[in-house]
Formats: sequence, C-alpha cells, structure tokens
Amino acid sequence: MSRVNELSANLTEVRERLSAACSAADRKPAEVTLLAVTKFWPASDVLALHSLGLNEFGEAREPEASRKVATVEAAVGGDLVWHMIGRLQTNKAKSIAKWARVVHSVDSQRHIAALQGGREAASVRDPIDVLLQLSLDGDPSRGGVVAADLPHLADAVEASSHLRLAGLMAVPPVEAQPERAFAEIARVYAEFRARYPAVNVLSAGMSADLEIAVNYGSTCVRVGTALLGPRPLISNQPQSTSVTQATNPA
Ligand SMILES: *Cc1c(COP(=O)(O)O)cnc(C)c1O
Repeated sequence: MSRVNELSANLTEVRERLSAACSAADRKPAEVTLLAVTKFWPASDVLALHSLGLNEFGEAREPEASRKVATVEAAVGGDLVWHMIGRLQTNKAKSIAKWARVVHSVDSQRHIAALQGGREAASVRDPIDVLLQLSLDGDPSRGGVVAADLPHLADAVEASSHLRLAGLMAVPPVEAQPERAFAEIARVYAEFRARYPAVNVLSAGMSADLEIAVNYGSTCVRVGTALLGPRPLISNQPQSTSVTQATNPA
C-alpha cells in the first residue's frame, strides 16, 4: 500500500472514531478539531494529509518544525494552521512565534514574554492563540501548571498585545484513571471559562483516549500514532543516547 493510501485509510478510521464519539456524546463533529501530530514525520506526510483534506498540524520540536513548515509552505503556500504542542524552551520561542498560529504548551511567565516578543519581532499581524497547559498532578517533568496557577498566567496572556488567551491543554498523568482525569480536566476548564468567557478551546485527547476526551468536552484532539503509525526510530533525541522508539508525548 502506498503511503498516501495508508494515511487515507488511517484518516478514515480516525474520522469514524471521532464521529462515533461525537454522536455518543451528543455533539457535532464540527465542534472537535482534528489536529494531526506530525512530529518526527517528514513534510511529505504533511502534504499527503493536506491533500486528503486536513489543514491543522501539530509539531513539538525545533528546528524540526521550522524546517518542515518552510518545506510545506514552499510546496502549497501558507494556508495551513500550525500548532506547537511540545514542551517550550524560552530560547526557541522566537522561532516558534514565526510559524505557530496556536501554542498549546504555555506554562510560565517566561514563555508568555518570549512568545509576545517573538511575535512582535516577526511582525505577524494575527496574534498567537495561547493555550495554558494544565497539570493535574503538578509533576514538573511533564510540563503544565496546577489549576490554582492558571489565573496569573491567563492575566499575563491577556495583557500581551500579540497573544490571545484561547483556552487550556491537558495530558492526563500516565497512571491516572482516564475517566476521572478527563472529568477533572472538564471541571477545571468550565471554571476557567467562567472566569475568562472568551476562551473556547480545550485541547485534550490523543490517539488512545480521544473518545473519552470528546465525551468530556474536548474541542481539539491531538492525534499522531492513529493517523501516521508508530513514530519512526529516532537516534538523535536529546534525552537518549541510544536508538529508541518515541512513544511518549515529547
Ligand atoms: C506526540 C503528542 C501527541 C500525539 O500522541 P499520539 O498518542 O501519537 O496520538 C499528542 N499530544 C502531545 C502533547 C504530544 O507531544
């Protein structure tokens, strides 16, 4: 099977899962954005998925992302919507601010200042949509902040001319019971929206748990493996000196 046929079959399957999850939750499929997570995969896969009708793509690392965006834009122009979903490093924020329409992983004042400065310098008119990353367990190694720390970050985003406060992103703790974790995410999101009424994005759910996430109100599922297959073998991952298979969110 050619790569494009394989991607097409995967896409059909993911769309069916999403539409079943939406009807089970009494929601409309149009309420849930399918974000294709293409980290580690080549620009040719982005182009293939784009030709199959997808328009929103998630990347996790620099400079892989900048290079891929440039290649894709050279081929099909700039109408794709690129999302940064990986851990942010302040020193990479400047280059991310050039290509990212949405950043899912903001969890510090330094990120906010760096993205604001980067977007200003890039002189892109549209603001970056900022999602604050919620951590349910406060584990610093996985990124995110606990619910109590959201308001001071949200206020800082709202005070930044080149950023728009769009919502929350969450990854349930590995050891958490999924139903309970997504219920808690939904509860925090509802509270957050009550305080910041313009917010309209809840980024939650990946390949393995998108149905539960949709049931608990996700408006954006970040799907890598179910669309593209198991991530390719990588020999140059920063945390690892050996050849490993990337399975965890980076
Ligand atoms: C890689 C990644 C995903 C995609 O995960 P899959 O299980 O492959 O669908 C989603 N979210 C984040 C933050 C990621 O880093």
